Amino acid sequence: MNIKDTIRTIPDWPVKGIMFRDITTLMQDPDAFREACDQLYERYAEMEIDKIAGIDARGFIFGSVLAYKLDVGFIPVRKKGKLPYKTVTENYSLEYGNNEIELHEDAVSKGEKILIIDDLIATGGTVKAAVNLVEKLGGEVVECAFVVELPDLKGREKLKGYPVFSLVQFEGE
Ligand code: AMP
Repeated sequence: MNIKDTIRTIPDWPVKGIMFRDITTLMQDPDAFREACDQLYERYAEMEIDKIAGIDARGFIFGSVLAYKLDVGFIPVRKKGKLPYKTVTENYSLEYGNNEIELHEDAVSKGEKILIIDDLIATGGTVKAAVNLVEKLGGEVVECAFVVELPDLKGREKLKGYPVFSLVQFEGE
């Protein structure tokens, strides 16, 4: 089962020049979806993890399956304005303008080991903001995991000092 072949690429979406890597085609294929979740599970089964932080919105899908399989808690890192309780907020820049993401301030306890997960790492700006949120609350980021990595955009450099893991890479294509 090659899960990379199940990911659809949409050129020039949402804006010209972007090759959008669409994981909906991976998820609608039950063999590919299971394979992706199983590979993530195998990587983290023996690692000491207290909670999984999934990034809004596609990080919720893989993150919650993994949290269930690992029998650990799941915490949603959400776009601003969605969480009902007290939050901590982090600003980050996108290709056009800025965005903010938030975590409930009681989502992480001091010293907890947190795995951060999203569907894709491009420049790394989004996940770095999530790392900052976890650390603001006293958590320790054990790794950042992705289904897809775009190495050309050098997201790993933004995450220097933090382990990064990805299932599939699209490089120069
Ligand atoms: P970045 O902060 O640049 O690492 O962007 C990562 C976030 O934007 C992830 O939540 C992705 O879902 C989304 N994203 C960025 N670039 C792409 C792309 N080429 N294809 C699909 N999703 C993308």
